[in-house]
Amino acid sequence: LRAGHYEGRIILLGEESRRPYDRPPLSKQVLAGTWEPSRTTLLSDRRVAALDLDVRLGSRAESVDLDARIVRTALGEDVLFDALVVTTGLRPRTIPGADGLEGVHVLRTLDHALALNASLVPDAELVVIGAGFLGLEVAATARSSGVNVTVVEPLAAPLENRIGPLAASRLLELHRSRGVRILTEVGVDSLDAAPTEGATRRHIDSVTLTDGTVLPATAVLVAVGCIPNTEFLASSGLEIADGVVCDAYCAAGPSIWAAGDVARWLHPGLGRHVRLEHRMNATEQANAVARNILGRGEPFAPVPFFWTDQYEAKIQVAGFVPPAGDGEIVESSDESFVQVFREEGRLVGVLGWNAAKALLPYRSELSAMVAA
Ligand SMILES: Cc1cc2nc3c(=O)[nH]c(=O)nc-3n(C[C@H](O)[C@H](O)[C@H](O)COP(=O)(O)OP(=O)(O)OC[C@H]3O[C@@H](n4cnc5c(N)ncnc54)[C@H](O)[C@@H]3O)c2cc1C
Repeated sequence: LRAGHYEGRIILLGEESRRPYDRPPLSKQVLAGTWEPSRTTLLSDRRVAALDLDVRLGSRAESVDLDARIVRTALGEDVLFDALVVTTGLRPRTIPGADGLEGVHVLRTLDHALALNASLVPDAELVVIGAGFLGLEVAATARSSGVNVTVVEPLAAPLENRIGPLAASRLLELHRSRGVRILTEVGVDSLDAAPTEGATRRHIDSVTLTDGTVLPATAVLVAVGCIPNTEFLASSGLEIADGVVCDAYCAAGPSIWAAGDVARWLHPGLGRHVRLEHRMNATEQANAVARNILGRGEPFAPVPFFWTDQYEAKIQVAGFVPPAGDGEIVESSDESFVQVFREEGRLVGVLGWNAAKALLPYRSELSAMVAA
């Protein structure tokens, strides 16, 4: 907004007590202990001053009255607005029995990452529940720190629907070659605590699987997906459907906008509503919303892009991997490859395995198609 010469007041309400920070390093450098937490900060004192922001931390939005144009916070404040941007992101899903047990973690915030990091001592037994990107990134980081890691996943072929069968099987193979045990087609029956006398909170001791296997555990990460933070909008009258439903301009109502992981908007290039849980989309969509608040009236039609880093593998995907996912390898060496995905002969996605540079022309081709 400031880059677009907006001179009015900007109030940033945030539930967390920390200043905004970058989340991708939480499962990588911060969890590994190679980055100080301060390195993830997105908003320094200098920047707050330069942008003239009114930053209110520990200030959760509790409800919104669209007629009165007021956000009510948990601190009892009524914050008036001319335009409202919802960027409340997601929170981790959990599983029955996880609450109240010491040593059972989720990972979304910096505090979560620091708590999990403290349990990753050599020879610890970590059980990761869920072989999605988050679970596997944590498995890679923990294994590289000398931790014994078992990943439990109900699907037969995790991540196939996101990166296709070839990259998915190569990724699981990489984990196995590093000594991570990956158990597929099995669920969790119970999280079990050691019998303790007098302790106020019991500590995880083992995980029992649906096939009867008992896995010893000094720590557990529950990585089974996330839920959009939209409860505070329940009485607002805005349409909520697994996210805040928006039009092609990212507007959810008159002068109400949404961006980032929480926004489900009508992608004009794809002709359907999508919600992306990717870091780059959060930035691009926030910029698009700012431009539209300033009256530019531009539909938001990005090429989706995400990456994941696991061991020395950097996987990047632009566009979409279609359900069949059997793309064509167009370049390959021992350590890298590029795979393109087409539907009816038309390029719809591209995947690079340690091939960031080789991906660039395909990303341009995808952008030109979305814009066309
Ligand atoms: C561990 C981890 C690793 C990741 N790695 C990658 C990666 O490698 N590549 C990639 O593309 N993406 C990655 N991501 C995803 C990426 O971080 C997200 O897409 C991005 O953080 C989304 O930004 P956001 O601003 O929409 O939401 P968030 O970052 O979730 O921010 C939302 C903020 O709103 C606050 N909030 C919620 N409800 C309220 C309320 N009622 N009132 C006030 N404040 C509220 C929350 O506390 C939070 O601070 C990763 C995410 C995590 C957690």
